Amino acid sequence: MSLAKWLAVSIVAASVATASAQETYPTGPVTVIVPFSAGGPTDTVTRLIAEPMGKELGQQVVVQNVGGAGGTLGAGQAAKAAPDGQTLLLHHIGMSTAPTLYRNLAYNPVTDFEPIGMVTDVPMVIVARKDFPANNLKELIEYVKANKDKVTYANAGIGAASHLCGMLFMEAIGTELTTVPYQGTGPALTDLVGGQVDLMCDQTTNTTGQIKGGEIKAYAVTTKERLASLPDLPTAAEAGLPDFTVGVWHGLYAPAGTPKPVIDKLSASLQTALKDPNVVKRFGELGTVPSTSEQATPQALKDQLSSQIALWKPIIDKAGVYAQ
Ligand code: ASP
Repeated sequence: MSLAKWLAVSIVAASVATASAQETYPTGPVTVIVPFSAGGPTDTVTRLIAEPMGKELGQQVVVQNVGGAGGTLGAGQAAKAAPDGQTLLLHHIGMSTAPTLYRNLAYNPVTDFEPIGMVTDVPMVIVARKDFPANNLKELIEYVKANKDKVTYANAGIGAASHLCGMLFMEAIGTELTTVPYQGTGPALTDLVGGQVDLMCDQTTNTTGQIKGGEIKAYAVTTKERLASLPDLPTAAEAGLPDFTVGVWHGLYAPAGTPKPVIDKLSASLQTALKDPNVVKRFGELGTVPSTSEQATPQALKDQLSSQIALWKPIIDKAGVYAQ
């Protein structure tokens, strides 16, 4: 076969494979691993977009909760899944902090995954059990400093957003608290409502309903501006902790090696899901906004992940918190 003919045949074969990967995918239900417990904020966000994504893909999108070790167990499982787009991972800021926090991380967030797109960037709130003695952030800081040996702080393990927020809070007030780790902040919130644990810092997607219902106390939101969904809640800066801002950005990933046409189809279905009226409404009620179509792209998530790994490394190194 002449070189020209060989090239022509190869190009045709490659475009047929590309077209057929896009046409035949997905071949069955798509599983999205959430690396935290059911009922928590990452789970809530994933379940909200799963239905419209499934509609768009023509197959059900099923959520699988694999909690533990601050999200690293579930992410490790997703990294090892077949690269066919049938198993995905929806993870948050923890993708960027784990490489510094964990000395023996079983996966590389950059080389073991194909980014699909950003999902949302969720504010956090500092909350306490409803009968906790402090009534505002100033009182909270005073109380915590005076009673540090008896105050307990819930989180979802090292690398979880609740861990990062707690780490920044403890550093800001110069006081170390006893932390109580959970597999996700869904069960942690249940214990906070039940009074078994004192404090937490968690996404608004988990806490807004309980704050509004008076089941927990809220002290401050970690955004620069107040939230429309919780207008009476001051920002941390207003309440006395300047520069205390944290946003829990979430992204959707596939295992490395997943064909590009499949990634493109997933990214398109994510963009459609994020415009779904129910998703927009529920995200708004829970204090967050869906990522734009420009943000819900592989390149935007790739850039976000690498810039956040670089951003968090010196902060974590300064705090000196590491896990195995
Ligand atoms: N909000 C949790 C965290 O602290 C995770 C979760 O349960 O979704 O990262």
